[in-house]
Amino acid sequence: MLFSNVVGQQPAKDGLLTMWRNNVLPHALLINGHEGTGGLPMALALAQFIFCENKTENDSCGQCAGCSKVTRLEHADLHFSFPTIVPKPGTKAMSRHYIGEFKEFVKQSPYGTTYDWLQHIEAENKQGNLTAEECREIIDTLNLKSYEGGKKILIMWRPEYLGKEGNILLKLIEEPPADTLLIFVAENSEDILQTIRSRTQEVKLAPISPAEIALALTTRSLADPKRAAQAAHMALGSYTEALRLIRESENDLYPEASRLLKAILGNNKGTELAKFAEDWSKNGREQQKNLLNYIIQLIEQSIRYRFTQNDAIALPDEEIKFVKYFASLPIPVNGLSELVTTISNTIYYIERNAHSRTQLHALGIRMQYLIKNKPLDPAFK
Ligand SMILES: [Zn+2]
Repeated sequence: MLFSNVVGQQPAKDGLLTMWRNNVLPHALLINGHEGTGGLPMALALAQFIFCENKTENDSCGQCAGCSKVTRLEHADLHFSFPTIVPKPGTKAMSRHYIGEFKEFVKQSPYGTTYDWLQHIEAENKQGNLTAEECREIIDTLNLKSYEGGKKILIMWRPEYLGKEGNILLKLIEEPPADTLLIFVAENSEDILQTIRSRTQEVKLAPISPAEIALALTTRSLADPKRAAQAAHMALGSYTEALRLIRESENDLYPEASRLLKAILGNNKGTELAKFAEDWSKNGREQQKNLLNYIIQLIEQSIRYRFTQNDAIALPDEEIKFVKYFASLPIPVNGLSELVTTISNTIYYIERNAHSRTQLHALGIRMQYLIKNKPLDPAFK
């Protein structure tokens, strides 16, 4: 993983590179950022940079033997520790039982979530764990000499899964063997043992901006600019979420959002609305939720636009037109926020398997009342 392939996060990259250049990289780093912000890719980029034999000032070369070993996750001095389950009764949950699966998972989806990982090893409802045995094995491994004569690096993904057994690692963290770097990758540093957290130096990852997410999606040819912008706005700073949205919403959502609005505003005695609900009830629940979340994003942009009249909205043209039109409708601001609440409630019910045609139809009627600024019959709330 090159630093340039980590989506966004320029301040964190600069911070790490500056520490490296000044020779003050701590021996225990904690990379901390919400799911989807790229903690594991960042750790891999740092490891590759360190092992690269031909690095530039800001990135690895991507070509040398060191780079290629890290890319294949086969560098002998790069170790991994991650939550696992007990593979069979009578054994202990340890990373080495799952290292093959883990490498395959990370190569396929470096932005994958812990939930995805545990599904990948068919943990089902079992909790992932980082056990005392795992901690002891880490100590043994890192006490061995480096294979290639350079640094040894351990990436521990999700130290939140360490119970109090994690205290076994304290001495290692305080006085690691020579040339050893420990990189902890967390999503919520509050949930890490305080004893461990206080012995590491934290590098924070921020939510990724919609513009950076959209750029990553288009340059990797994962989506056309329009769908990339839609997904980026809905992903709330998570590249993983954007990827999921792209995977699950095969089509451009805008025509359907605009169809719903026309059905609501049009003078067709509700037949278009009923037809909309009927058609959409045939799509999967995830698709329905994606569309509704997308409409919420458009309404929120409209609220923002009404206050700022700011033209610099990072959306495709026809969506900007929609946002401006919506902002110009004579709906009071509390009506707009009530619209958002109404749609969120529908998402809530759809998630809980409510009958989706009824839900979507009722939502259309509620929206009609709110948009046309009529008082809503309490029976409909
Ligand atoms: Zn290299």
